Amino acid sequence: MTIANILLVEDEPAIQELLAFNVAQAGFNALRAADADSMWKQIQTKVPDLILLDWMLPETSGIVLAKQLRADSRTRDVPIIMLTARGEERDKILGLEAGADDYITKPFSPRELMARIRAVLRRHAPVLSEDVVALGGIELSPVTHRVLAKGHNIDIGPTEFRLLQFFMTHPERVYARAQVLDQVWGTQVFVEERTVDVHIRRLRAALEPFGLDSLIQTVRGSGYRFSTH
Ligand code: CA
Repeated sequence: MTIANILLVEDEPAIQELLAFNVAQAGFNALRAADADSMWKQIQTKVPDLILLDWMLPETSGIVLAKQLRADSRTRDVPIIMLTARGEERDKILGLEAGADDYITKPFSPRELMARIRAVLRRHAPVLSEDVVALGGIELSPVTHRVLAKGHNIDIGPTEFRLLQFFMTHPERVYARAQVLDQVWGTQVFVEERTVDVHIRRLRAALEPFGLDSLIQTVRGSGYRFSTH
């Protein structure tokens, strides 16, 4: 299972505790920081999948931190949700201009917070290219969502399609299930590693009538590989 790591940057212990509780309850992994220093220390250890950033922090404000996070190559693409007690439109715009992806006002309902987190993570899910790929007798067209196996149109589900597209654009390399999940599903919750096996099975079943199922190889103890050899 791949679990998104959410870094909570909040100086008030009671609110930090509440955030951590809700985040963990929703199945995410909560990392905590109370100020700028501890935030950067956490990032050094692990770049999170999302940062929940309080506006009012001691010394360096959340707005300044958001700008710094956007300027740092490690955290440039990490989504940020600003957390603030100030509900004015002007502040919301300031937060978004500083590089935040979304904005939530205290007091917040845990359900709203989780909905925002999920929405932001979904928007940052990996984007696959729109180029047609042809390899090993398969032709895949992302725009029309068509797959031709030795010239025959085959019918596969959207997940199998993304899976096939990922493998065809990364051939001859072995990917562990967790890596496949991150690349194809994104860092979402509640997706178990065996889900990958299920979709691989379906994909092979669709390719089998054309003798192309062996393109998707199981590498024992490691994961899967798309190989034309
Ligand atoms: Ca605060």
